[in-house]
Amino acid sequence: MTDILNGGELLPLVEDFYTIQGEGYHTGKPAYFIRLGGCDVGCKWCDAKFTWNPKLFPPKPIEQIIERAKDCKAKAVVITGGEPTLYPLAKFTKQLKADGFETFLETSGTNPIVGDFDWICLSPKSQQPPLEGEYVKANELKVIIQTADDIIWAEQCAAKVSADCMLFLQSEWSQRAVMTPIIVEYVKDNPQWNLSLQTHKYINIP
Ligand code: SF4
Repeated sequence: MTDILNGGELLPLVEDFYTIQGEGYHTGKPAYFIRLGGCDVGCKWCDAKFTWNPKLFPPKPIEQIIERAKDCKAKAVVITGGEPTLYPLAKFTKQLKADGFETFLETSGTNPIVGDFDWICLSPKSQQPPLEGEYVKANELKVIIQTADDIIWAEQCAAKVSADCMLFLQSEWSQRAVMTPIIVEYVKDNPQWNLSLQTHKYINIP
């Protein structure tokens, strides 16, 4: 796939839309979301399975993608997926920055993180962990908790990020009734962690 993307001049755009960041450190921040197709992680509970096959999303020139974002009042772009690090993002993020956008990345860290990012949210998955060298690039570690055992995985990941990385635990959506109270108690006992809620789902926005 990457060979037909001309070194990052083209990217497989799934969808782009203006909304409010619903989770993690930047919860509540208006931002333009750019979702790229393709994912090499395969979470059972993934709520973006429609992105998995990149062949369904014909590569688009990055200039075209950025042109659409320019109509947005918020000068902040969240690049998400899928798994956006499957693609070289240096040219894309350089142009976004040149056009005055802040750049935010949502990634599982399964590929090298390449690009000019103002904020990197690393959401590691135990079935396909991040590359070892990528943990230290995270500004924010956001671990999805499906069962209480996932908190052990979260602590293993937290041991690998930088000292100033923000730490978040977030229930997998279908388990929120059970897991959120467990996370609340864990965060109260371990205040280096923070609770993340998928607020966009509670208020039914994208
Ligand atoms: Fe879905 Fe994200 Fe997991 Fe990929 S990493 S399968 S897009 S939840």
